[in-house]
Amino acid sequence: MTSRRFRFIPFTIAQDLTAWPEYAAQCVSGDESDCGEKSGWKGHPDGVEKWMKEHTRQTLHLRYRRLFADYAEFDAPEDFDPSKVIRGETIEHSRALDAPRPALALERARATP
Ligand SMILES: [Zn+2]
Repeated sequence: MTSRRFRFIPFTIAQDLTAWPEYAAQCVSGDESDCGEKSGWKGHPDGVEKWMKEHTRQTLHLRYRRLFADYAEFDAPEDFDPSKVIRGETIEHSRALDAPRPALALERARATP
């Protein structure tokens, strides 16, 4: 029987500074169902707040769900050699939860008995 050993490579996750974050809001005012009006994605929170104030002025709706989105990317350690990663291998979710963090990529190697 073959056993497998997984080695984790310590990646870090960082915001992708080449892409601007985005902000939005959705009106969730309403008694039986939410209003549902959306601001659309804005490049700055001020644009969202301006939309919320205008929507409140028009409707007297007072409750909003605010959203934030950005892009993130993995930064590999300087000594990371992608040729040593065996692609296509994944680990079971339950095993992933046991993994030390940060640890998001893996290399599989046959274990020596
Ligand atoms: Zn509304």
